[in-house]
Order: sequence, then structure tokens, then C-alpha cells
Amino acid sequence: MAKPKVAIVLGSTCAGCDYSLLDLGPTLLDVLANVEIVYWPTGADFKLSDLESVPDGSVDLTLYEGAITNSDNEELAKLVRRKSKAVVAYGSCACFGGIPGLANVSTADDIMKTAYVETWSTDNKAGMLPQPLSKADGKHLELPVTYDTIRALDQVIPVDYYMPGCPPPLSYIEQALVAALSGKLPPRGHVFASERSLCDECKRTKEKKNLTAIKRFHEIIPDSQRCLLEQGILCMGPATRGGCKAPCVDNNIPCRGCMGPTPEALDQGAKMLSALASIIALDQETGVSEDRLIPLIQQVKDPLGTFYRFGLPKSMFRRVIPRR
Ligand code: SF4
Ligand code: SF4
Ligand code: SF4
Repeated sequence: MAKPKVAIVLGSTCAGCDYSLLDLGPTLLDVLANVEIVYWPTGADFKLSDLESVPDGSVDLTLYEGAITNSDNEELAKLVRRKSKAVVAYGSCACFGGIPGLANVSTADDIMKTAYVETWSTDNKAGMLPQPLSKADGKHLELPVTYDTIRALDQVIPVDYYMPGCPPPLSYIEQALVAALSGKLPPRGHVFASERSLCDECKRTKEKKNLTAIKRFHEIIPDSQRCLLEQGILCMGPATRGGCKAPCVDNNIPCRGCMGPTPEALDQGAKMLSALASIIALDQETGVSEDRLIPLIQQVKDPLGTFYRFGLPKSMFRRVIPRR
């Protein structure tokens, strides 16, 4: 019997999702022995032409990691869709836009200027920026066009499965690969994660105490048994899907929300604000007034990076146009 064909494809990524596959250890060797890898440029010397040359619809499972930040990513995503029976948005960048999605508060021009002109270590007095098309020694050179708006994978192509996490938890990677090998993938649209929130899975004691101040992580030594949020440390657990087994919280570090919004949440940041409002108002029957909520929220030093660190492109805001 022919082995299932698998592709592992990189968009705009730190490649952490890719490397997390190595954490599978001996299981990865079993998987590799039972599938035909048709494209995995990190794993071996594959060229794009290898993927282009397989028949349309012949790749059984493609893991696509990374956000869509440029024309190269978009073309690759569309190619992958044509070639694949099932596409997994693999990791939080592919699922929600991830860390690259924070660029949606800026523009491509501003990002290019920061990267190539304004950083203190850059010597570029002429202010030269990479151009999509240029000519050198009689040859035409082409670079991808960087987009103003960063997108998640399903904002560019239809996606069959989602596997959030930065990177995704090993147990779900294993689950998806085993399902693909046995031809028993779940119904389309399935999210390889828990249906519950991280707080539902967290073992810390919740004492239903009012939140009176927000503290930065370095400002206190948190009690390792009590809920971090109740100690004033912003932990995204109430607004975040579980399934990761809470490695950060277990190590006394607040959850940053990498598994994305809980299934019922329309917007992870809004859900977190509502969770905050509810613990500020624990002593009130009528809810919290703005004059209590706003000063508390103003103590959050980086609201965007706190509430939308992994999911700005899929949030209700999606993109913010900078004021000039
Ligand atoms: S989800 Fe995290 S580990 Fe994966 S590519 Fe994005 S930033 Fe890297
Ligand atoms: S807010 Fe954080 S520390 Fe508190 S219960 Fe939820 S996940 Fe645990
Ligand atoms: S605890 Fe939060 S930040 Fe850490 S892995 Fe889980 S979802 Fe991600």
C-alpha cells in the first residue's frame, strides 16, 4: 500500500513549530518510516519544484506553519491548498497570525524603515530599502512583496484543521500524525486542543479574591500554589484554550495565551477584559463601574502585547491604522 504523502511547509515563521517536531523523539522516526515526505525544506534539501511537481490533490496531509506576511507566503499557501487533501494550520502563527500579526499596528513601510534604516546597529545613510523588483548586472531580481496587513492561514485559503500553540503541544502533533497515518482524521474544522479553558485545567487554588492592583511579573514573587491572576499578575488563562498542560503556569509564569481564544470567545482580548472585570467586581452585585475598571486596566503596561499577543489578525480589531 502506498504511504500517505505529507508536506511540512513554512510561511512567515520562527521555525519553532518545525523544530518542535523533533521533540517527538523516536515517534518521529516511526512516523517518517510510515509516510512519504514530499516537501519539508527544514528537514532535508527540498526545493519548491518538488512540491510543484506532485499531482494536485495528492498530498494527504500538509502542516502549514507561520503567518501570511508577504506575497511568497500567499503563493505557497495557495499551492499547498491545490496539492493537499487536508491542510492543518500548524501553530498559533498559522491559526491566528501569531506574533508576526502584531505588525498589524504598523505598516510595511514603517517596518522596513525600522529594520533597514533606523536600528542603531544599521549603517544605511542612503536609506536604501529592499525593492520587490530590481536589476543588477543585467539580471532582474525579484523579492516577495511585504504586506501591510498580516493574515492567518484561513484568511487566505480554506483550512481543514487547526493546531494552536507556540509551538503546539506534542500530544496533539502525535494525535494528528497518528490519525493521518490510520486514515482516521477527525471531521473538518476540528481544533487539536482542549474544548475547555486553561483555568479549567489549572491546579492552582482560586480563592475568589478581588483584584485590586495589577503587578508586573518582576514586582512580586508569586505564591506557587495560588491563582496568579488573583495575585495581580495578568495570566491569560480565563480567555485561553487549554490542552497545553499549563507548562508556564506550572513554572510560576503567567499564561500568555498562545493556545488562542476559548471556543466560545469571539475575541481573546475582550474575553480577558470581561474576566478581569468580573474579578474586580466580586464584591458587587451590579458589576464593576468604569471608574474602578479603567484605572486598573491602565496599570497594564502593554495592553496589545498582553491581550492580543498571538491573535490580532483574527481579533475583532484585525488591524489598527497608525495615526500620523
Ligand atoms: S507559533 Fe510560535 S513557535 Fe510556531 S512559528 Fe509562530 S512564533 Fe514560532
Ligand atoms: S488565571 Fe492562570 S493561574 Fe489563575 S487559574 Fe487561570 S490559568 Fe491558573
Ligand atoms: S500556559 Fe499559556 S502560554 Fe503557556 S503553553 Fe499554555 S497556553 Fe501557551
